[in-house]
Order: sequence, then C-alpha cells, then structure tokens
Amino acid sequence: MGLTGLEIFKHLPKTNCKECGFPTCLAFAMALASGKTSLDLCPYVTEEGKAALESASAPPIKLVKVGTGDHLLELGDETELFRHDKRFFHPTGVAVLISDTGDAAAEAAAFDELEFDRVGLHYVTDVVAVKCDSGDGAKFKAAVEAVAGKTEKAMILICEDPALLEGAAGAVAARKPLLYAATADNYEKMVELAKANECPLAVRGEDLEKTAELVEKVVALGQKDLVLDSGARDTSKVLADLTQFRRGAIKKVRAFGYPTITFTTKEDPLEEIVQAGVYLSKYASVVVLKTAKKEHLLPLLSWRQNLYTDPQKPIAVEAGLYEVGEVTADSPVYCTTNFSLTYFIVEGEVENSRVPSYILSVDTGGISVLTAYADNKFSGEIIAKAMKDAGLEEKVNHKTIVLPGHVAVLQGTLEEESGGWKVLVGPREAAGIPKFAKEKFE
Ligand code: SF4
Repeated sequence: MGLTGLEIFKHLPKTNCKECGFPTCLAFAMALASGKTSLDLCPYVTEEGKAALESASAPPIKLVKVGTGDHLLELGDETELFRHDKRFFHPTGVAVLISDTGDAAAEAAAFDELEFDRVGLHYVTDVVAVKCDSGDGAKFKAAVEAVAGKTEKAMILICEDPALLEGAAGAVAARKPLLYAATADNYEKMVELAKANECPLAVRGEDLEKTAELVEKVVALGQKDLVLDSGARDTSKVLADLTQFRRGAIKKVRAFGYPTITFTTKEDPLEEIVQAGVYLSKYASVVVLKTAKKEHLLPLLSWRQNLYTDPQKPIAVEAGLYEVGEVTADSPVYCTTNFSLTYFIVEGEVENSRVPSYILSVDTGGISVLTAYADNKFSGEIIAKAMKDAGLEEKVNHKTIVLPGHVAVLQGTLEEESGGWKVLVGPREAAGIPKFAKEKFE
C-alpha cells in the first residue's frame, strides 16, 4: 500500500517554492501519492526525508529479476491479495526440472521448444531448473553449461551444497540464475556465493517463522534479492503458507516481502498440473514442475494467461476484416464481435470448414456476441457501419453476410441498414460452422 498525500507531505520542506512544478508542497505530495510525479523533482527533500519516503513507499513485495535480456523473468512486485481489486502484475514463472544425472542438453533443447499459440496469444515456459542429483560438482557444472548452451531462458540452479554449486554458479553467473537455496545450515556460504556472482538467492525455511528468521539473517549479510520457500510440500500447507506470505507482505511484514517459489510433488502428471494450478492461483511467483509435456503444460499456461490479464479490460482483437484461407470475391463473409475468445473460436471453425472466408470482427469493446447485443453494441446499425468501414462491398461480389445464430433477431434491421445485403442466420454455436458452410457454400 502506498503512502497518502498527507503522509508524504509530512516529509516535504513545506516552503511552497514551486520548483517541482506544483504550486504547493501539498499539491506535489498529492501528485506523488497518485503516482503522477517523482520525488526527484523536489531538490529540497532532506536525505532523511528521502530515506523515510522511499522505505515507506517501497512495494510490499520486492521485484526480483532472474535471467537477462529477452528472457528476463520479473518476480514479485505484487500489490493485491485479490485479483479483482486491481490486477496481478508479474505472471508466475513456470519452470521445468532437469536433473544433472540425465541427458541435460537434450532435455533443455526440448524445454526450449515448449511454446504455444492459442487464441492469438503466444505462451512460453519461462525457466529451466537444473538440479544437482549427482552429488558431483563437476558433473553439475557440465549439466548447467549444457543447458545454458541449449536455451537462453532464465535458470534456477538447485543445489544446497555451496561447494558443489560454486562452479556451476560461476559458469553461468552472467545469466543471473536464481540460486536455490539458502537454509539454516548453509546460508552464510550461500550468501557469499550469491553476492560474488550477483545472483538472486532462494531462502528455504522449515516453516513460516523459521523462514522469516532466516530472511532477516540473510538480509543482514547484505543479500537483498530473495525468493522465499517455506519448506512445505503438502499442497494444502503450501497454499496456506503462500497465502500467509502474501497477506504478511501486504501488511508490510518485511521478512515476507519477497517473491515465492514452490515445487510440485505429485507423480501423476495430471495431478501435478492441478497442484501447480493451485500454487499459480495463490500466490507462487515460480512453480517448478517435473513434467515437460506440451499437453500437460498448455492448460496451466492458459490458466496463467487468464489470471494475469487486467480484469477491467476485455481481451480484444483488432476490429476489422480478416481473411481465412485464399479468399476470392466469391468467399462467404461471417460476422462476429472482437472479443478475442469468440473471434478465435469462430476463426478456428471457419478454418475447419475448409471454405476460404472473410470474418468481419465488429468492435464491441471486446465483449461477446450476446453481451454486446444486450448492451446495444452489436446492432444492425453497428454491423452495417463495420461492413462499410471494412469496404466489404468492394471485396465480394455476392452481398451476403452470415450473422451469428444467437442474434438472429438482427436479421431484418441488418438487411435494412446495410442497404440490401442478404443476411443469412448462421449457427448458434461456432462448432456448427463447418456443417453450415458445407450446406451453404461448398
Ligand atoms: S520543490 Fe519541494 S519544497 Fe518546493 S514546492 Fe515542490 S515540494 Fe515543496
């Protein structure tokens, strides 16, 4: 939670000199509280005032960066307990585990290809977690280097023996991996290693209280970029701990103000995905999985996509005329709204029909057919205007358009408003498009 304008005002010089561009210190404080200006614009805030304001206005959960460049993974910096209060900002990193006892290079190459396109969006797995199961520092280092050679995505190095971790961490330090993990037994050496390589460090306690104590010790040694693990592995206990971390962080319990990491334990891949889904929902910053199969990961990545959108903004495609296949002037024209889920379902079914077609995506502010109709955003008048704006008349020679079956009631007005176009009532569900196209257009 940020400071109020009055709280900020207490730390300002109160001279109303206007050098910040605001008429008074109070006006500046109010603008600062709403994020519309920056504290740097006041040259007269004392160092103590700056320190107080910066510490009090620090985000409840620290932003921790793992990886570099295009594959930088930003964790934490969340402000909400409930997504609908504002939104969640930094999507949970989905990590796949690779052991140093297997063929790390081959597994990393397969991991690197875990990318998906769905409803016009591109999903990727973000992190590869390499684990030292061999108990051999040289073997672990070789596996980490092999993985780094096959993927540029962010890395987690899992090894609790600093002596075994040292070589691997040094080899890929430039990639800024997350080192896992400092514990009550090894934290001094792990902090040394993390500081020497400028890497973020995971801290694993045995419960919430012990994790908080360990965080304080690690921070006192100068390691600031941390990721927390309460040590729990049972699903309900992990969920409870993640919730306590988030609640504590929002209440400014400083030891809880860091991103979190979790590990799945279920052996059955489908159960594992459900377990990962629980952690992803509340409130893991990284989930490390054992399965690396596309069919297992896609539902999890889809769920993440849904969770990390802005609930106040519908997901929309750009309104306009789209071509599916090699269209000609004879191709049919379907119309729908620009709600992305609706649009891509219609597009998929038009593709399935194997009849090259146009789809007119009407701007309804990104809402679905029936909702838009109820809100008068998908009317005969609006569709007719969209047809005109898209230049449909110049594209096709048949003056026929297919209306979604759910809004058959618009048929008459659309025929009138469009100036004589024939309006066919299409199927109520997109799944009916291939059959409809076969009957009408093949
Ligand atoms: S520059 Fe600083 S002291 Fe001057 S009006 Fe702005 S906030 Fe007040």
